Amino acid sequence: MYYSTNHSAARATLREAVVRGLAEDRGLYMPETIKQLPASFWDEMGHLSFQEIAYRVADAFFGDEVPADDLRRIVFDTLSFDTPVVEVEPRIYALELFHGPTLAFKDVGARFMARLLQWTQGPEGASGATVNVLVATSGDTGSAVANGFLGVDGIHVYVLYPKGKVSAIQECQFTTLGRNITALEVDGTFDDCQRLVKSAFMDSELNAHMRLTSANSINVARFLPQAFYYFWAYAQLSSKLSTLNSQLVVCVPSGNFGNLCAGLFGHVMGLPVKRFIASNNANRVFYDYLQTGKYTPRPSIQTIANAMDVGDPSNFARIQDLYSREDVQEIILQRNAAQQNGTEPLISGATYTDDQIAATMRDCYARTGYVLDPHGACGYQALRDQLKSDEIGVFLETAHPAKFKQTVDSILGTDIAIPERLQAFMRGQKQSVQMSKDFTDFKAYLLQQ
Ligand SMILES: *Cc1c(COP(=O)(O)O)cnc(C)c1O
Repeated sequence: MYYSTNHSAARATLREAVVRGLAEDRGLYMPETIKQLPASFWDEMGHLSFQEIAYRVADAFFGDEVPADDLRRIVFDTLSFDTPVVEVEPRIYALELFHGPTLAFKDVGARFMARLLQWTQGPEGASGATVNVLVATSGDTGSAVANGFLGVDGIHVYVLYPKGKVSAIQECQFTTLGRNITALEVDGTFDDCQRLVKSAFMDSELNAHMRLTSANSINVARFLPQAFYYFWAYAQLSSKLSTLNSQLVVCVPSGNFGNLCAGLFGHVMGLPVKRFIASNNANRVFYDYLQTGKYTPRPSIQTIANAMDVGDPSNFARIQDLYSREDVQEIILQRNAAQQNGTEPLISGATYTDDQIAATMRDCYARTGYVLDPHGACGYQALRDQLKSDEIGVFLETAHPAKFKQTVDSILGTDIAIPERLQAFMRGQKQSVQMSKDFTDFKAYLLQQ
């Protein structure tokens, strides 16, 4: 069962938690128990494929409610691409999460959620009513969700995006699909798009008319599957390196903190990671929290790592809740006693300005030839700055650099190739519905659907 981080909503089954997204008390759902993986899993790991490892992890999360055959199919359908670990320089590795359909890590969670949501509908959508997914995007979430749900029966996706404020490469990935995907081009900002979505979820007339759910990382079906590739990274590294022991440091470029949170769940399940680093761009609310113990949300600042431009990360509530049974201060705050003993806290932070990100990209490219995207660059630099001489570091390379081609080329003086998958989107025909930023217009539109 799942409880809410606000603790006043009723407990929910997985089905209910996935369909609702957010609990009725506006809290985030958390699993009541987090299972340890059995000793046999660790013994066999070296011989298992990515999909098989992911299935074992998924079984620990969802196996009580989802029958084994269904869950296995969902996991194998989701992971039709690899997330390889690549050596960038001695002791620093990139976990490349950008080999999926939209070339960013959100493909994993979005594809899994689409299939699990379809499963909640029963065979052939037995429950009848179409589920409508509303998603506001500043670029990357929209493309991953739209592609993850494309062609899935019984589900319709509405992507709301700010007109003229997403790059052409991003826009084509959710406006050219058609079928069960509708792109709404909102005459406003990303915040306006988010407000429209939130208002829709709270509107009782609309909710009586149609079934609505969200697909951002507040949804348990989207954020938990991101734990899969942490296990796969560990499996790959431990077969490469006899010296790994318990010296692995994982660095996560973070915005809404869904990705890091999934890694922390993995750690609670027994994944032998020594410590995590949460790397931020100039949006440093979490970094400041680690220094001061005070959480102060702020309006987001625009940066070149724009998928991490978040001033009030939703999954902060989950991280706090995860460690609430133990002393949060002891575990994650940098000014804790452990540090005085010379050991590092479980989570430490980092923050980089645009100039620093650009300098990192140039430096890494010049020394190693590896092309970082601006998000991965935050992860790489934090390892350069914080890795101890006896530690091995892996950072999550969250997007293919071609997704940010203009930025990357102007920083590195390159002309990086656009993968065929991305070119195919760019050849497609854009279809979108024009929408004002007034909720009455949006509501009237949805009521006609
Ligand atoms: C979404 C995103 C992030 C941030 O991930 P969170 O789970 O929100 O912390 C980092 N990099 C890229 C490329 C992203 O699209």
